[in-house]
Amino acid sequence: MAGEPQDDCLFCKIVKGEIPATVVRETATTVAFRDINPQAPTHVLVIPRVHYKDAATLAAADPEVTADVLREAGEVAALEKVDGTGYRIVFNTGPGAGQTVFHAHAHVLGGRDLQRLV
Ligand code: AMP
Ligand code: ZN
Repeated sequence: MAGEPQDDCLFCKIVKGEIPATVVRETATTVAFRDINPQAPTHVLVIPRVHYKDAATLAAADPEVTADVLREAGEVAALEKVDGTGYRIVFNTGPGAGQTVFHAHAHVLGGRDLQRLV
């Protein structure tokens, strides 16, 4: 069924507690944890508990949870005190954009000067 946990998905395993993660915030619908290979002083991933392959697919299937992910990205930025200086929310979508884990996730990056991308 759509959104059901996938046995071969790394982030579903983190949601289930089968793989450890440094969790910074949790809600009924989301988990936020530190990226294992941080690209900035603050680099936190916010994921929905439900499994969808990318952010757009999640948004089409479950707009409320998509909003939860974005709200949590803001909460993480405030918790990490990068909201004042500025931070970036990234959704890599597809292999050509660098997506390696096919469970929707927001990268929250901050704590250093982030070059303007677009
Ligand atoms: P993406 O490349 O956009 O799909 O992002 C996947 C991210 O997951 C990468 O930044 C990885 O460093 C990160 N990652 C992979 N495995 C783990 C893990 N076990 N715990 C935390 N972050 C992870
Ligand atoms: Zn998953």
